[in-house]
Amino acid sequence: MSDCLFCKIIAGEIPSDMVYEDDNVFAFRDISPVAPTHILIIPKKHISTINALAPNDAETMGNLFLAAKSIAKQEGCDEAGYRTVMNCGEAAGQTVFHVHLHLLAGRGLAWPPG
Ligand code: 5GP
Ligand code: ZN
Repeated sequence: MSDCLFCKIIAGEIPSDMVYEDDNVFAFRDISPVAPTHILIIPKKHISTINALAPNDAETMGNLFLAAKSIAKQEGCDEAGYRTVMNCGEAAGQTVFHVHLHLLAGRGLAWPPG
């Protein structure tokens, strides 16, 4: 999508601190981190929100978690633990409407979240 911030990041039109890429997934450091490790893992396919998922997106979404596993190991937070979060809609705090999995680590993470 031409007017999507994250599609522009995937295309390299907007620079990012990339940490992982494969055929289907792109991951980069959040510009405004809320934890020492804060990475956004996104599908290369534009999907706006969880609400827009189609049955044939199941593999695409599963690939985000496989990437999270690899990135957590790469970042050295796999053993200590990390959190994955996907906000859906404005009330949940979604501000960029291209689905993304937040990977958070490097500090204690309270539960329940805010
Ligand atoms: P959301 O609030 O939609 O769940 O998460 C969007 C995230 O994207 C936020 O954590 C925000 O800091 C991050 N973000 C917004 N614009 C940019 C950008 O241009 N570059 C990067 N690396 N992260 C961004
Ligand atoms: Zn997009």
